[in-house]
Amino acid sequence: MHVGFLGLGAIGTPMAAHLARRGPLTVWNRTAPRAAEFAARHGVTAVATPREAAAAEVVITCLGSSADVAGLLDGPDGLLAGLRPGALLLDCTSGDPATSRRIAERLAARGVAFADAPVSGGTNGAEAGALTVMVGADAATFGRARPVLEAFGRRIEHVGPVGAGDALKAVNNAFLALNILAAGEGLAALVKAGVAPRTALEVLNASSGRSFVSEVLVPERVLTGTWPRTFRLALLDKDVGIATDLLAQTGVPGPVFELVHALLAAARAELGEAADYLDPIRLTERQAGVEIRG
Ligand code: NDP
Repeated sequence: MHVGFLGLGAIGTPMAAHLARRGPLTVWNRTAPRAAEFAARHGVTAVATPREAAAAEVVITCLGSSADVAGLLDGPDGLLAGLRPGALLLDCTSGDPATSRRIAERLAARGVAFADAPVSGGTNGAEAGALTVMVGADAATFGRARPVLEAFGRRIEHVGPVGAGDALKAVNNAFLALNILAAGEGLAALVKAGVAPRTALEVLNASSGRSFVSEVLVPERVLTGTWPRTFRLALLDKDVGIATDLLAQTGVPGPVFELVHALLAAARAELGEAADYLDPIRLTERQAGVEIRG
């Protein structure tokens, strides 16, 4: 099956690499040299416009936001100019439900199916082909999407209609952000109270306060002082904004999500658009005058 892939960013690149091993692949990226370099390395085709990438049976987008995807639809070189009736667009962007629904409507008018299919598992999970994929679509579209998503996904779940994948992904990332901020504050305080960070984590991880952040991210990236940059804080902030909007739209009081969003937005403003999602822990370290290492 011929696949078109748009968005060779931090996570899109390892996802597309799995697709390159499976069959014919056409790639497009806004910054064109990235697509040319990917095509040379993986023996696939790079094209100059979204229209050309969209002339495939299945088209996958993995951009920063739903607005970025919507921005590629129109114009003589846009996605709509290239998509054929009967094609399927899978949007692996961590998007927002309302924009995904609007995109789905526009595509449906052209006979093109759509699913929001955001992923979780980070760049390591993408490299391992072990992502969780949260799919919002009708049942028939999900059935068509699954075999394609299996190239990079391990758990592929149909979670509801179009927009449901985006909603679930946003709530997941609000939990992630909450745990990152809490880990920074709690561990900094424990270091100051005389508890060795590794001991603190070992005990937390054998106790009820543990999370993916305490079990994996802090031991691998903070204690070691390696701080790899794999997921931009700006994107996590975007996700928590989507989650906060979801609570408002569904009439659920959201003081916790709102506070997490305000704190992340402040960290983003201070650290900049290139900062990594764990950098708020470094900010807390600086403010507290401690290092969480060990
Ligand atoms: P990056 O910032 O590394 O890459 C973003 C990609 O989108 C690049 O290819 C960029 O092109 C492209 N892009 C951005 N804006 C536009 C635009 N207006 N028009 C066309 N192309 C655009 O992001 P990631 O790869 O990290 O993330 C992609 C998506 O996956 C996001 O929604 C993110 O929230 C989600 N995600 C990321 C994870 C991670 O660990 N990194 C984990 C799970 C989900 P260019 O190269 O020209 O900048």
